[in-house]
Amino acid sequence: MQVTINELESYLDNLYSGKVGEQSLFMKLVEEMGETAEILNKKSGRKADDGTDLQTELGNELADIIHYTVAIAAVNGLDLNEIIMEKDKKASIKYKREENLEAFISEFSGGQHG
Ligand SMILES: [Mg+2]
Repeated sequence: MQVTINELESYLDNLYSGKVGEQSLFMKLVEEMGETAEILNKKSGRKADDGTDLQTELGNELADIIHYTVAIAAVNGLDLNEIIMEKDKKASIKYKREENLEAFISEFSGGQHG
């Protein structure tokens, strides 16, 4: 099953808004970034590998980062989907990129469904 940013944000809004503050969510985000750093250190050999499945663990920690990032947007009433689209549009102009996310999505969904 696929999840959109809007769906995830709405779900996390229900889960956290009025119950958990952004400071707590941010502390969790930083914690998850530390856990991700630990996995990347194990992958690169800077830290001893204890036999855990690093690929699975990396995916889990990145999912945690997305969870708390989107949660902070949700409790602040930010439209993260809209912001991501706008930022990419501005970046593609600023850096004179041929590609932009809006065109990519149009082609991607065209290829998927048409
Ligand atoms: Mg974690």
